Amino acid sequence: MEELISLCKRRGFIYPSSEIYGGFAGFWNYGHYGTILKDNIKHLWKQRFVFDREDMFITDTSIISNPKVLQTSGHVKNFGNELFKVEVGTGEEKAVTHLRAETAQGIFVDFKNTIDAYHPKLPFGVAQIGKAFRNEISPRDFIFRQREFEQMEVEYFVRSSNWEESFEVWRKQMNEFAQELGIYKISEEEVSEKDRAHYSKRTIDFVFEYPFDERGELWGLAYRTDFDLKNHNLDYLDEETGERMVPHVIEPSLGVDRTILATLLSAYSTDELGGEARIYLKLPKEIAPVKAAVFPLLKNKPELVSKAREVYAELKKTFSNIEFDDNGNIGKRYRRQDEIGTPFCVTIDFDTLGETQALKDTVTIRDRDTGEQKRVKIEDLKEVIR
Ligand code: ATP
Repeated sequence: MEELISLCKRRGFIYPSSEIYGGFAGFWNYGHYGTILKDNIKHLWKQRFVFDREDMFITDTSIISNPKVLQTSGHVKNFGNELFKVEVGTGEEKAVTHLRAETAQGIFVDFKNTIDAYHPKLPFGVAQIGKAFRNEISPRDFIFRQREFEQMEVEYFVRSSNWEESFEVWRKQMNEFAQELGIYKISEEEVSEKDRAHYSKRTIDFVFEYPFDERGELWGLAYRTDFDLKNHNLDYLDEETGERMVPHVIEPSLGVDRTILATLLSAYSTDELGGEARIYLKLPKEIAPVKAAVFPLLKNKPELVSKAREVYAELKKTFSNIEFDDNGNIGKRYRRQDEIGTPFCVTIDFDTLGETQALKDTVTIRDRDTGEQKRVKIEDLKEVIR
């Protein structure tokens, strides 16, 4: 874990918040590569949990809401000290409320707007990615337990008779998502009644083998019954029966930061390459912060640099994040990209320029995991990187 924390700082993934003032327990900042990794994970989640399906909507609700929302939801009573109190407005207008501790309530409170805007048929769901705040008594273990963190949640509305079926569908979806991120040390745990949240009739924790806790919670999947919609006095006109009813809710709840931590811990690898020890992040291609890095073999040869710039510009048209690097020797550049988790490094050398005529317009492409290099035509590069 210490090695990972050190890599995250060294390579610009994650830093303690307010570090020059000694940090601030429970708060962390994401640097350049951490931010891109986070975005890529959120993007993949959105793709799998929303856009690949036909029955999902996405939303983005406010962090601060009318005090009645968290009173009615039971959070003020059940979360108590863990809620961050905030004062909104001044003077007579002043209201005391709390920062949200989960993104879910915004989705419930908007239920009528969702129905009126899209007229969805049951079952359907609403997804949201956003910040949540908990005044944790002892924030710890890097980004595992923070006071400000992010969640990716789905509230999936079903008929009460169908909750088990939907619970299984989301359970499978969560396991598949873990595989896609390269998170394998994951298992499920049934949460006992006494440990379940006040709203839940069934919860499964997806636990991960963290270095500090062999069975630490990564994600949760809860059956929230009709608890929330009922509390907020919301219902649904069932067109099948013509009656008003209160849908039940299945909630896959994924912490963004714990997902990043489990992904990074799973990807962190060491080996020996060319007689030297190395560290690399074996991140899946889809979420690696840099898709490929392009190097001129030598920095002081303008022909190599300009050809490398040309290849770089061409790849940038297709891929979101390609890096150009001509700093230091090639070995050092490889080491840096390995630690960032860049799947491919492309080098432009004298053969690219035609020193060996048969190799003109080819480059070397190095695989992060094996360190192996092969020559490919520039025109085939995009296919190889994709
Ligand atoms: P724990 O038991 O570890 O406190 P929880 O059961 O209270 O977690 P939930 O209320 O189910 O967590 O929240 C859903 C998800 O949000 C969790 O599975 C986790 O990924 C994330 N999460 C919860 N609390 C934190 C926190 N303090 N820091 C970072 N992520 C968190």
